[in-house]
This record gives sequence, structure tokens and C-alpha cells, in this order.
Amino acid sequence: MEAGFASSRSLSQTLRSAWAHVARLALDIALPTLCVACREPVAGVGVCAGCWAKLSFIAQPYCPRLGIPFVYDPGPGLLSMEAIADPPAYQRARAAVRYDDVARTLVHALKYHDRTDLAPAMGRWMARAGEELLDEADVLVPVPLHWRRGWSRRYNQSGALARAIEKQSGVPVARDVLRRIRPTQQQIGLSRSQRASNVQGAFKVSAEKAHAIEGLRVVLVDDVLTSGATTDACARALLRARAAQVDVLVFARVVDTHKAPI
Ligand SMILES: [Zn+2]
Repeated sequence: MEAGFASSRSLSQTLRSAWAHVARLALDIALPTLCVACREPVAGVGVCAGCWAKLSFIAQPYCPRLGIPFVYDPGPGLLSMEAIADPPAYQRARAAVRYDDVARTLVHALKYHDRTDLAPAMGRWMARAGEELLDEADVLVPVPLHWRRGWSRRYNQSGALARAIEKQSGVPVARDVLRRIRPTQQQIGLSRSQRASNVQGAFKVSAEKAHAIEGLRVVLVDDVLTSGATTDACARALLRARAAQVDVLVFARVVDTHKAPI
């Protein structure tokens, strides 16, 4: 009896794995995956080994406040000139990679071409870069799109990244907390001070959702950090609504704005 039970179970396992194999084959035929950056065939989803090697992952040493990579290690706790001269409203910022050609291709694919399948990999890299922040965090808040832009693009890329980070880290996403209360111009082509005034007062925590962040440590999630004007405006809105602390986690950050224009 026992032997019969065991063999029928192993038969069902064999059938299941055979079916899984067929399903995988069918999927491989139906969806040949290409590297997002160079369009070469790739195993899995995302970028090929060559493009992965071209991504500049940000690692220590970096400014503990802004996450800007240092050329040499100045010693523990030393801040960048930028952090001292113009400290942001948020506490700390971390980014997975520098914003360069491959990073830009990934960001644009996610943002403009509905490649939400990239979000899990990008979110994994972000969760690794922001481990220190996520260990202390209570909630994730994605930077919102204005509803009109959200409508034309159909989904918010920061929301997709936040959900991927939630899966990795277990830190929950607080949804619909932050709202864009007035449309803002695209930040592209604006100077630093124009960027700041463009987004000043553009964000608000909705009154009925304020309880979701009050007294809590928030990690604000976005795809790219350029001048920091948008994240700074969001951090101010969250702090006004009594968040205990706001950190920032992005996929890519512009490290040298003169060399890497958007
Ligand atoms: Zn590639």
C-alpha cells in the first residue's frame, strides 16, 4: 500500500515537472527575451552580462548624507561639500547606480515603454543599496505622478519600484499618501533654482492618509535623483505631515550633472 502511494505520488510529480517543462518551453518560444539596453537575446529578464557590467553600481565610500560616491575614502562620518553647503530636508539618500547610458535606458523602458517586468530586478538592486535605510524604515512612499501624467502613462514607475522593494525588504508601501497638487513642468532643461521653484509646494499629504506616516520613518522611493529638488519638496510635505524622518532611495542618481544631462 505504502509503495503504491509513493509511486502514484512520484508519478504525479513527474507529470507536474513534465508540464512545467512544456510550459517553460512554450514561454521561451512565445517570449524571446532581449536585453533592454542592447537588444541582444538574454536569459531571464533585464540586461545581458555585458550591459550589467557597464552599470556603475554605487558602493562605499560615499557621503553618508547624500550617498554621492567619493573618489577616495575621507574617513568615517565625513560629509560631502554638497551636504554641508546645501543640506536637504531628507535625512539620507541612497542610489543603486549612477545615472549613465545603461541606467537611462532602463529608466526610460520602465517609465515610457511599460516595461514593468524590469521593476523586480531594479527593486532588488535598490533594496541592496538602501539596506541601511530599509532596516530602520516603517513605510515606503513612492513619489507620485500628477494624475494627468499618470493617466497618459497609465502607471507610476516609482510605485512599481516601491512595490518591488516592499517584496524584497518587507517594508510596506503606504499608498496614496503623497499627492501632486499642481502640475509641474518636466524638470528637463531647467536650472537648479528653476527646478526648486518648479516643485515648491507641488506635493501634499492627503489629510485622510496622514495617519499612515505620522510619527513613522519614511523611505521615499523614486527612479532618478537629479538635483534633489523633487525629493526635497516631497520630504518637506511628509515632514509637515509629521513623519518622524524621511530618507530617499532611488534607482539612479546623477553624480556629475555637467557630464550626465538627462
Ligand atoms: Zn545588453
